[in-house]
Amino acid sequence: MLKKGIILLTIPLWLTGCVQKEQSAPNNTHTQIKTQVSVSQTTATSTKTSYSTDSDKVEVVQNPESLSVLINKQNRLPEGYVPSDLVTPNIPYLDSQKEKRKMRKEAAVAIERLFAGAKEQGIILIGVSAFRSYQSQETLFNYYENQDGYQNAVTYSALPGTSEHETGLAIDVTGGNGKCAAEDCFAGTKEAKWLQDHVADYGFIIRYPDNKTTITGYEYEPWHIRYVGTALAKTIMSKGITLEEYYNAVPIIN
Ligand SMILES: [Zn+2]
Repeated sequence: MLKKGIILLTIPLWLTGCVQKEQSAPNNTHTQIKTQVSVSQTTATSTKTSYSTDSDKVEVVQNPESLSVLINKQNRLPEGYVPSDLVTPNIPYLDSQKEKRKMRKEAAVAIERLFAGAKEQGIILIGVSAFRSYQSQETLFNYYENQDGYQNAVTYSALPGTSEHETGLAIDVTGGNGKCAAEDCFAGTKEAKWLQDHVADYGFIIRYPDNKTTITGYEYEPWHIRYVGTALAKTIMSKGITLEEYYNAVPIIN
């Protein structure tokens, strides 16, 4: 553990993002994740894409450019995927690393509107980490694999293609004081509450809600918001469901 802690300190923050906590706790409970097909995929409507719920295999999604694509531990982006329309939103960021500032164009416009809307109501937000390339995630994972072997590395580092940050549709945000960036203490802040109440108006969802760990496979991350478009965002947030539930693709932790 000590050795791993030292290693983590040497890895640039842009390589870690949301998975930082997992990487520093290789033996935490998410290693026990098992999934079951809880709802037949045939029940999904014809307008929805079917996604894998089999924990033993990771499916490559067929619609990586879709604004509503589901990326999780069972459904990954194609190898080497790079969104074709990455731009840099005009919002404040915690640091100057350029790649992780990027988002896909529609999401970038939406996050600018969201930040402006928050500011009008006295809520100052700062971007922490948005896009992360497949190559960055692969480099990070390969590093851990060389250190610990695949079976250990996969328990604490996201496989390349399975991080939602690789879609260019997700961003971690924090409050204007810059504290609690992608950390548990962001929960309960006025900024977190504002996001919960208003993100859907701008086309975003709280991707990893509280008490949905058994479905998303991730602990509560009130700072991680994902663009899906306004109509879908309002449906998901008003029902209090997750993207997995919307697609009837529900991983369950035993
Ligand atoms: Zn995140």
